[in-house]
Amino acid sequence: MASEHDHHHHGHHDHGPHDHGEARAGHHGHGPHDHGGSCAHAAHQSERAAGALEQAEAACRAQGVRLTPIRRQVLEALYATHKPLGAYDLVAQLAGQESRGRPLAPVTVYRALDFLMEQGLAHRLASRNAFIACPHGHGPADLVAFLICETCGGVDERASAPLSRAVAGLLAGERFQPQRQVLEISGRCGHCRDAAGA
Ligand SMILES: [Zn+2]
Ligand SMILES: [Zn+2]
Ligand SMILES: [Zn+2]
Repeated sequence: MASEHDHHHHGHHDHGPHDHGEARAGHHGHGPHDHGGSCAHAAHQSERAAGALEQAEAACRAQGVRLTPIRRQVLEALYATHKPLGAYDLVAQLAGQESRGRPLAPVTVYRALDFLMEQGLAHRLASRNAFIACPHGHGPADLVAFLICETCGGVDERASAPLSRAVAGLLAGERFQPQRQVLEISGRCGHCRDAAGA
């Protein structure tokens, strides 16, 4: 489980307004019609992809599990975009690949996704039925708030100890045993608001 310091780090250094400026190098054409990979989320994702894949390899080794070629391909595909990908998109994207000399079956992709989620390397967004890569080491049971931008498609993850404590207290009060905790908030991200002058 990642420490609060980690979350803090990711929250304030990876996605901060200064990052935005640096990554964009003074270019601010980030509007609703900008569907390409030019938003701050996209720049940030491509910057961290290589390191995150290396980190995933190391995490799997430490857990005694294997990031097989197909699992890695799925994770790479998730890191190749800053937008959530549906399982069907992934299957289509990886259709040209082979597994043990045979075309990749959808069920193989689904299993790879299950593995990545179990290892905390990816999350499923319930409201989109789509998947994102997670470089933060969140466990499957961690309470994470997903901030989903409707304009650029970027997704930010925020975990906070006070939020987790508040929800845990509420559940304990009800003697409710949580299986999956979903907190997904859709709207417009800070970068897109800046770009729109809002
Ligand atoms: Zn964005
Ligand atoms: Zn996460
Ligand atoms: Zn946005």
